[in-house]
Amino acid sequence: MISAILPFSTDILILGAGPAGLAAALAASSHAQTITIVDENAMLGGQIWRGGPVKWQDKRAHALWQKLSHCQNVRVVFSARVLAQKSSHTFLLDVAGVAQLISWNKLIICTGARELLLPFPGWTLPGVTGAGGLQALVKGGMPVQGQRVVVAGSGPLLLAVAATVIKAGGEVVSIVESKSSRQLMAFFWSLVKAHRGKLLQSLKLFWSLKHVYYRHDARVLEAKGDHRLRSIVLRHQEKTTELNCDLLACGFGLLPNLEIGNLLGCQVQDNGIVVNEKQGSSRPDVWAAGEACGIGGVDKALVEGHIAGLSASAQLAGGRALQSRARAWQFAALLKATFEPDHGLRDLCKPSTLVCRCEDVTASQLVEYGDWRTAKLMTRAGMGACQGRICGAACQLLFNWDAPGMRQPVFPTKSSTLAALGAASKLEENR
Ligand SMILES: Cc1cc2nc3c(=O)[nH]c(=O)nc-3n(C[C@H](O)[C@H](O)[C@H](O)COP(=O)(O)OP(=O)(O)OC[C@H]3O[C@@H](n4cnc5c(N)ncnc54)[C@H](O)[C@@H]3O)c2cc1C
Repeated sequence: MISAILPFSTDILILGAGPAGLAAALAASSHAQTITIVDENAMLGGQIWRGGPVKWQDKRAHALWQKLSHCQNVRVVFSARVLAQKSSHTFLLDVAGVAQLISWNKLIICTGARELLLPFPGWTLPGVTGAGGLQALVKGGMPVQGQRVVVAGSGPLLLAVAATVIKAGGEVVSIVESKSSRQLMAFFWSLVKAHRGKLLQSLKLFWSLKHVYYRHDARVLEAKGDHRLRSIVLRHQEKTTELNCDLLACGFGLLPNLEIGNLLGCQVQDNGIVVNEKQGSSRPDVWAAGEACGIGGVDKALVEGHIAGLSASAQLAGGRALQSRARAWQFAALLKATFEPDHGLRDLCKPSTLVCRCEDVTASQLVEYGDWRTAKLMTRAGMGACQGRICGAACQLLFNWDAPGMRQPVFPTKSSTLAALGAASKLEENR
């Protein structure tokens, strides 16, 4: 089941072992010859179920894995990352540092999402992370006992992150939500009307955070410190305050991981890979599910994964699944309408603020260029370790530029990995 060896070929390849990928594999398992799930992480679970079965508290995760682990035709390979496309149905992967190829007949993309980080003065200081970034570190064992933590940005993830920090023994000094009370109340009433389950979850979370100072209509203007974070300056309803803290976790929502959809030439929009009723992409042999085709949380990921798995193995989804996906899509639309970052957040970034933290490029160096590509060529923005995954998205909001385009290899890799397969020359032709 869990294997260190990637097969040469597979009937269905699933990228991502989060809720969507696991649900897709289980749904397809009875009607596919071989299914291979690959994930760049070293464990199952994706973002929300991070850490593998020993850490899972969601019964749905255990139920899925319990069934999947008995499927002889399903194989999971970890620490495996798609780097490039060798031919239309063959990928080059980096599997724990070793180059390997896999050919597939059908592909299900369940690659999830990453955080939107926006630059503001001091955001590169040690002690400042993304909101989900801090949560991942804590889930991975980073000690936060006795640490004073501010969780800032926007969206429901802030509550989940604050709850994780408290559970791990940290002190959440404040949650700083940029949306206004009017926007949050409208969201609350929409939950009351149409999403009672989500309402209950939010109320439980709020209850567990009852001692935390929740500020809405508030923004972190600056993170201050010498060699590491010491305090933050925030504006809350026209008042400016300084708060001492050890950690600042700041994120402005999630962005779908679109690299693989782009690599394959699937139709994509900013909010995800475009899919039809069957979770099919614009390519007939490629399906997508979960955050990769729109941000909507774990319920959406599970039901979309289920439908994608059925469709890829030539089965039809039942009415109940279609209904719960319709509800999940409604909730995703509500999330987008409420928490989409607004242009006012541009003011957080000052001319001297670093936008590309890998290559030390400031906002004032970028502002004179008209698009991402020119700015990249002239300043090296986006050419560092993250390959524009962080600054590219920030520049979309700051300067209204298009998202960085697709390039191969998708992730930075050793030239020996490419050379081992004679892929380097092929990639050179495609550049
Ligand atoms: C940092 C972070 C923290 C989150 N915390 C919460 C939370 O506390 N509560 C909550 O309700 N929601 C949380 N979410 C939202 C969460 O993503 C969804 O609710 C749910 O996990 C979506 O499931 P998914 O299967 O679509 O994606 P994910 O769970 O993100 O799984 C995607 C998987 O794909 C893998 N992958 C990506 N690209 C590749 C590639 N090229 N090759 C191989 N593998 C790849 C990733 O390693 C990952 O394991 C969080 C999201 C993020 C980004």
